[in-house]
This record gives sequence, C-alpha cells and structure tokens, in this order.
Amino acid sequence: MDADAIDALLPQTQCTRCGFQGCRPYAEAIASGEAEINQCPPGGAATIAALAALTGRAPLPLNPANGIEAPRTVAYILEEHCIGCTKCLPACPVDAIVGANKRMHTVIAELCTGCELCIAPCPVDCIVMVPDTANNGAPRAGFPDDEARRLRERYAAHLRRRDARAAAQMEKINHKREALKQATGASTIAEAIARAKARAQR
Ligand code: SF4
Ligand code: SF4
Ligand code: SF4
Repeated sequence: MDADAIDALLPQTQCTRCGFQGCRPYAEAIASGEAEINQCPPGGAATIAALAALTGRAPLPLNPANGIEAPRTVAYILEEHCIGCTKCLPACPVDAIVGANKRMHTVIAELCTGCELCIAPCPVDCIVMVPDTANNGAPRAGFPDDEARRLRERYAAHLRRRDARAAAQMEKINHKREALKQATGASTIAEAIARAKARAQR
C-alpha cells in the first residue's frame, strides 16, 4: 500500500493523537499494516471512510483510545498573562503563532488546526482552546483536501526552518569551540577549566 496516497487523506494537523509522531508516520504505519485506519480523531468518520475505500479494509468506528470526533477548536492566548517566553512558537507545526521574545504572542485563528501542541510548553498556562469560528464566524467542518494540502506545505516549511535553525546553532557552537581551541589549546570548556585548574596546582 502506498503511504503517499494514505497521507493524502489525512488532515495534516500533526497532532499525534493517532499515537504516531504526525500524519506521515501514521500513514506509513497503515501502509505497513502496523496500524488500523480508525485512529485519527481530527479526520473522524470521513477520514476512516476514505481510508477504508483506499485500502479495502472495513470502516471501523473511531477508536476511543485515540480521542473523540468533535467540532474544531482553535488556540487562544490570554495575552495579559503571556510573558513572551516564545516556548509555544517551535511547538506549533504550522507556525500559526506570532510573537517575539518578551512580547505578547497571538494565534492566527485561520491557520490554527486545534492540535493543542502549544499548550504543554507554555509555562504560565495562558493558552486555552476555544470554539473555531474562523470561517466568517461559523465553525469550520473537518479538514477539506485543499486545507490539508496547505497544512502539509506549512508543516514542511516549519521543519525546514527548524532544521536551518539547528544547523545555524551547531555552526555557532563549532565556531566557539574552534575559537576556544585556538585560545587555550582545549576543545571544550570543561577541558579548558581542567587545564586551568591543573596549571593553578603546579
Ligand atoms: S491529524 Fe490524524 S493522522 Fe495526523 S497526527 Fe493527528 S491523529 Fe494522526
Ligand atoms: S496554535 Fe497551537 S493549537 Fe493551533 S495549530 Fe499551533 S500548536 Fe496547534
Ligand atoms: S508559551 Fe505561553 S507565555 Fe510563552 S510566549 Fe507562548 S503563550 Fe506566551
């Protein structure tokens, strides 16, 4: 079974409620026969029906162990409590939160999937879930194909930015390590301290 075709039917919130680290890993688990087709609460019955039609498997009811099918919600930041720590920014798979260090943060409701992944990292519990009224005040229903496509692209861009940040950070560390080596002959701060202590004891 083709994981790409399965992934194309999933909502792309990356919420992990299926028990996998995102939609693509769940698609691969279905493709390999490791997972059932009824583990995605955001997609609910419509996604199960689409997966059943694609895979030829029986359309099981949504597994309650993964959650329940419910109207969409979006995250809302209680701005008066936000301390601008930025911890919620990298947690959002679709970069739906805007804000800067020590500044109040805000969720762009139109982009929010309700995945709730930003809630746990917030140290002051100022992110709450509220009914989704981003569709001109009315709740959005499910995750239509065009939205899922956009979300997949946003997630891919999010991962690219995350990897670029990690690479830049690593470059900075290597640069500092090299400067330290040139200045002291040591490769790490711990080694430089040990050498300094050894010198002091002579
Ligand atoms: S949207 Fe569905 S498939 Fe994607 S991570 Fe969430 S539960 Fe898993
Ligand atoms: S703002 Fe929070 S709930 Fe909304 S998509 Fe981002 S992480 Fe998920
Ligand atoms: S994690 Fe919470 S406190 Fe920190 S910036 Fe985000 S909303 Fe504000």
